Amino acid sequence: MEFIDLAAQQQRIAGKLETNIRAVLGHGKYIMGPEVGHLERALAEYAGVKHAVGCASGTDALLMALMAYQTGPGDAVFTTPFTFIATAEVISLLGATPVFVDIEPETFNIDPKKLEQALDSVKKPLRGHAPLKPKAIIAVDLFGLMADYAAIGSFAEEHGLIVIEDAAQSFGAQVKDGKACACGNIACTSFFPAKPLGCYGDGGMCFTGDDGIAAVLRSIRVHGQGGHKYDNVRIGINGRLDTLQAAILLAKFEIFPEEMELRQEVAARYENLLSSIPGIKVPSVPSGFKSAWAQYSILARDEDHRALLMERLNRSGVPTAIYYPRPLHLQGAFEALGFRPEDFPISENAAGRIFSLPMHPYLKAEDQEKIADALNGEGK
Ligand SMILES: *Cc1c(COP(=O)(O)O)cnc(C)c1O
Repeated sequence: MEFIDLAAQQQRIAGKLETNIRAVLGHGKYIMGPEVGHLERALAEYAGVKHAVGCASGTDALLMALMAYQTGPGDAVFTTPFTFIATAEVISLLGATPVFVDIEPETFNIDPKKLEQALDSVKKPLRGHAPLKPKAIIAVDLFGLMADYAAIGSFAEEHGLIVIEDAAQSFGAQVKDGKACACGNIACTSFFPAKPLGCYGDGGMCFTGDDGIAAVLRSIRVHGQGGHKYDNVRIGINGRLDTLQAAILLAKFEIFPEEMELRQEVAARYENLLSSIPGIKVPSVPSGFKSAWAQYSILARDEDHRALLMERLNRSGVPTAIYYPRPLHLQGAFEALGFRPEDFPISENAAGRIFSLPMHPYLKAEDQEKIADALNGEGK
């Protein structure tokens, strides 16, 4: 059994992949070839956003988003400690300061009710830190479930903050009539192979409805390019999406809407099979939300119970993973920020109990039954 079955997907679209890759080899425009623009237009239309700017990774998408709003030293960027390192890493890379805000226990996403207190803490800092200028919020759509952008957006508006949607895991997700990648000032996604829409290497994309910001992102992507190749108007990066990856993504995107529906079916089957198992908590999706199901993450009772369940699954040949075993405020990389255990108890509690089951559009019902049986082994 695969944790994410990319081979099953590849089999379905092998012909189209080959055609698209051969087309790139034929025209030879490996850097910013026509496929990049085609993909940008297709994904912008899907997400319902005016502009899409392909880039080299989800991490670069986040970095470019912060750069587009000139984020730097002295700026506070609010984000969740229960995410992949990249979300907060880019803040520090630019010399700004990540300010962590604990998550909601039900969704694992940033808790908008805790933003107020975080805002106060940067204006009147404890522990001998200098005051910071509140600049932006990076909300993460963890495991494919969109954050509460209605609440985040109104808080941001009230306090003049930029909102960045880290949609690395949520391309394809939805809330009522809005889609992931259409929230905030800029949304950022990733095409890392294991993401809901993944390529065969690294890739990412920024989305924005703002014409000016889109132009700035396009400039940052190519070393801060101005009117021509050797005119550099700002500091940028080499952040382009490879033409070959765009060609691969175009082939995958053809079946993506169908795959999103298959993911819903897989998640529904899991819920049926697992929700009555004692000590296990299945993911809860608030009403009106549709997750992209990048991961199917469940909670055990505690760390020992998790170890037991994972061992049982392992013995049955079922791969599992822990996203994420240590919240970012307790990572060595952020030691200088001076956080301590218990600063973000909801995140720490989740990190101690959570683990993820195989999740992909081609997961068979019989495999899911096998997973449920292994989890049910308790007490037998
Ligand atoms: C994967 C991921 C990223 C980074 O994307 P890359 O393409 O690997 O650079 C950022 N944020 C979150 C939440 C992610 O899951």
